[in-house]
Amino acid sequence: MDIRQISPEFSAAPQISVQDVGAAAAAGYRAIICNRPEQESPDQPATKDIRAAAQAHGMAFRHIPVVAGAVVDADVDAFRSAMAELPGPVLAYCRTGTRSATLWALSKAPTLSVDAVLNAAAGAGYDLSAMRPRLSALSKTNHIAAPEAWSKRATRRHRVVIVGGGAAGISTAASLLARRPGMDIAIIEPNDVHYYQPGWTLVGGGVFKRAETARLMADVMPKGVTWVRAAVTGFEPEMGQIVLEDGERIAYSALIVAQGLKLNWDGIKGLRDTLGKNGVTSNYMFDMAPYTWDLVQALKGGKAIFTQPAMPIKCAGAPQKAMYLSADHWSRTGRLADIDIEFCNAGGALFGVADYVPALMEYVGKYGIGLSFNETLVEVDGPNKTAWFDVTGPDGPERVAKKFDMLHVCPPQTGHDFIAASPLANAAGWVEVNPETLQHTRFGDVFGLGDGCSAPNAKTAAAVRKQAPVVAENLIAMLEKKGPRAVYDGYGSCPLTVERGKIVLAEFGYGGKILPSLPTWMIDGKKPTRLAWFLKEKLLPPIYWHAMLKGREWLAKPTILPMQPAMHEAQEACDFQEQKKAS
Ligand code: FAD
Repeated sequence: MDIRQISPEFSAAPQISVQDVGAAAAAGYRAIICNRPEQESPDQPATKDIRAAAQAHGMAFRHIPVVAGAVVDADVDAFRSAMAELPGPVLAYCRTGTRSATLWALSKAPTLSVDAVLNAAAGAGYDLSAMRPRLSALSKTNHIAAPEAWSKRATRRHRVVIVGGGAAGISTAASLLARRPGMDIAIIEPNDVHYYQPGWTLVGGGVFKRAETARLMADVMPKGVTWVRAAVTGFEPEMGQIVLEDGERIAYSALIVAQGLKLNWDGIKGLRDTLGKNGVTSNYMFDMAPYTWDLVQALKGGKAIFTQPAMPIKCAGAPQKAMYLSADHWSRTGRLADIDIEFCNAGGALFGVADYVPALMEYVGKYGIGLSFNETLVEVDGPNKTAWFDVTGPDGPERVAKKFDMLHVCPPQTGHDFIAASPLANAAGWVEVNPETLQHTRFGDVFGLGDGCSAPNAKTAAAVRKQAPVVAENLIAMLEKKGPRAVYDGYGSCPLTVERGKIVLAEFGYGGKILPSLPTWMIDGKKPTRLAWFLKEKLLPPIYWHAMLKGREWLAKPTILPMQPAMHEAQEACDFQEQKKAS
């Protein structure tokens, strides 16, 4: 066990085992905090076993799970409260100890000087210097120093660095390798598991098993790519390098930012405490989607509420998909008349592209669904089966309580905090890219795609399928000193599962332009079809695993424009960027 003392009252450690708990107790620790989400990696001991061991040794235990690279203010608040309540000294652990050290540093920032916090962490082997801006912002005693004061030189370099090994990161790496075999690419990804999130709707509908939607990250990493198992915490684009959670810097010739988005579960008061019990569920979480199906099967009557937050969200149709599949099951089992279904949508329309609304409205009518627009879920009390909504009406906003027997929540979504705090973000916190070339608008050697970029397309894996080849083309052009010529048309797709066996297949690009992949005689996207369901259930998963993630660009060949003067300008911007880094 590698215990690293940061302060007299606090130490951090990489993952501990059940056997280590006794050693920690013998060393004088009186409480343990676990900062890892459950099942983050296959070799991780269950939190309940560590908890039991701690209790057996008379130690207090607290579980404050934090996603790597995504320490949010609510995590810091929970950690600060735990430190105030638990007997000390406290030992906290995560995969490497960095998340625990980070929580400690952020919780101390308001009271200690930033240098004192950073030095204490560094003394224990945790280089948190990339967090200086965030610590300074929290500090009541410091001002932010100039960036040069905290920048360090990278310890290694790769030609292409990709942040995130999700749909976008892996597909783009594969598309690059398909064009330039042997290219030196590193993917920075902290998670051991890669998820096929589009499958979660079908898990919640009882069609797929949860395990069908997950594969080991090691199995989807393209051959030849260096996988750096860490979270990125910062960017230093002026120096052409990124910063990892342990403070290490990695330099790049080209950077692809594909970190997805943040599901803000804490944006709804009380939600995290009740998810997975009291009838509260969400298909937006791998662990939770099977619970949706359990609830759907168990509900015999009463009130079922499905919520949708403000846009943008990933797969904007997913909240409705969960609702239609549930209603279909209740209809088939003769319970629909006893279940009052309500769709509470923060927006003002059933679906963003009007062409698909008539087909959806037929199902709304068939299932007797009540549509409530401009209603935003703000709080949940699971044990009392009550949800509160901010309702915007003609007389202004008011807070309304609604009772439920089942509540399916789609959480509010934003850019990740480490993106929003970086020079790569736009004002809204997304990676700021040109919507057509997906090149960063200010840093020519940076590209962004997927859920976390600013392009105003529907945030879907289908969009990623089209974006990855565009980024691959334009990034290679940039490295070869040519301007970007591949163009993304904003394509995204949302297969709306209106009943088990039928789908309204919405496919559209920028401005809501309808962009069908197949001729209308095969699939008319504005009508529910069996063929679209067959596509979703049987064809799209293998296309994802075996084509998209392998650089086989099925129906995704990018449009390449002839060289134009404006592109020379874009290339000049890249050259300027290179010169700056070199100097
Ligand atoms: P992700 O796939 O989320 O990957 C992001 C990766 O970045 C993750 O592996 C994460 O661990 C990593 N990361 C995060 N932070 C860091 C960090 N600090 N450092 C390094 N790495 C980091 N799409 C469709 O096309 N059709 C559908 O039917 C559909 N249905 C959906 C239903 C649901 C319930 C959900 C949740 C999504 C659905 N989607 C659908 C959307 C689709 O899954 C996403 O649009 C797609 O996964 C986006 O890919 P991405 O790579 O941008 O993000």
